[in-house]
Amino acid sequence: MRTDFDILIIGGGMVGACLAALCAEDRKLHGLRIGLLEGHPPTSAPQGDVDLRVSAVSRGSQRILQAIEAWQRLAPEHLSAYSDMVVWDASGRPRGPGSLHFAASELGEPNLGHIVENRRLQWAIYECAAFRNVTLLQGELSELTLGDELAVAKLADGRQVRAVLVAGADGAASASRRLAGIETSGWDYEQSGLVTHVRTEHPHQHTAWQRFLPGGPLAFLPLADARSSIVWTLPRQRAAELLKCPTAELAKEIATAMDGVFGSVEIVGPRASFPLSLAHARRYCKPRFVLVGDAAHSVHPLAGQGVNLGFMDSAALVEVLAASADGGAAALAELRVLRRYERWRRSENLLALGLIDTLNRLFSNASGVLMQVRGFGLSLVDNSRTVKRLLMGRALGTAGEVPRIVLHGS
Ligand SMILES: Cc1cc2nc3c(=O)[nH]c(=O)nc-3n(C[C@H](O)[C@H](O)[C@H](O)COP(=O)(O)OP(=O)(O)OC[C@H]3O[C@@H](n4cnc5c(N)ncnc54)[C@H](O)[C@@H]3O)c2cc1C
Repeated sequence: MRTDFDILIIGGGMVGACLAALCAEDRKLHGLRIGLLEGHPPTSAPQGDVDLRVSAVSRGSQRILQAIEAWQRLAPEHLSAYSDMVVWDASGRPRGPGSLHFAASELGEPNLGHIVENRRLQWAIYECAAFRNVTLLQGELSELTLGDELAVAKLADGRQVRAVLVAGADGAASASRRLAGIETSGWDYEQSGLVTHVRTEHPHQHTAWQRFLPGGPLAFLPLADARSSIVWTLPRQRAAELLKCPTAELAKEIATAMDGVFGSVEIVGPRASFPLSLAHARRYCKPRFVLVGDAAHSVHPLAGQGVNLGFMDSAALVEVLAASADGGAAALAELRVLRRYERWRRSENLLALGLIDTLNRLFSNASGVLMQVRGFGLSLVDNSRTVKRLLMGRALGTAGEVPRIVLHGS
């Protein structure tokens, strides 16, 4: 049967674009026709002030992005390395009892990761050399048929695209997942993540800070220009109030919520808020169809893991597909091949989702007893080299069953 593409990726956000570039770059998959369908592809290099949407990108993700030479396209002024991470409970003090401190120096690493603007990272992937071998289609998926011999994606404008394998990378509200008949389990946190940029009296010290408050954690992510990007998880109603309140009032609320650690705070950016929920696809694949990134799992932002898990999915999928490439393009869509990827990534992601959800439930709670236990628990972990190393390895994306590209760069 005639097809337009061997692999058609639906959704060209950071994860879908990365998957497309990895497929095009891989030696074993070389020569395959890779298509990327995106509703709103970027058309020019991002300009202007730091955007509100930034991500903490792990060392593991950096290695994946380096392999496709996208990382190298990010200018130093758009990369903010952080060397330390300090987490503390509302009842504790940073670097005191009831706190946890991770330092890159303890692992012999130069940093724990970088804060990067999502749009600049996405653009860097679209501009990397491997991406020249990807055919970009602008359009919205509206129907999907997964047949015995090929998959047909129908676009909203009536065009039809035929492919051997379809990969759904179209985000948390994935239409491809729904059209493929894959359900999710999860729940709404009834919390929102309020984001803005702030300038603080005391410097961020290239450290990612997070204070766990009963309503949800408040994170300060260090930006390269000495400002910080904040993500404040709040009950939905409170987030809606703070989204609209006067700037001076919000600044005061943030300074108080941070227990004065940064001194006075000035709001120096617009504000936005995002409803938070947990969703995990019950399956990651069907014959001819596979899921990656937020389309497969969306997590609470408190551990800064969402896009990092998606990059790991992409690298793992390409590794599995490449190992089956000798069977020709048709073999890539076989369920036994796609299941190998599913077994690998679903268990890794389940672990991350469980850990992040437990942290959110344990800390977003005002119980006095829990507060004492939490403070004690954090101090205990802080004093255990083994547990700390384990957690840091996970946060860095270098522990667990890691794709080869993260370990060896190819
Ligand atoms: C407040 C907040 C802070 C966060 N901070 C971090 C962090 O520090 N670190 C981290 O790792 N993660 C973080 N995350 C999570 C991270 O933003 C997501 O995990 C990531 O953006 C998911 O990328 P994706 O490419 O899978 O999906 P998306 O970014 O949602 O991209 C999906 C793409 O698919 C396209 N699309 C959708 N439907 C269709 C269709 N029908 N047809 C064609 N195209 C379609 C969309 O246009 C979009 O470009 C945060 C999230 C929030 C809300």
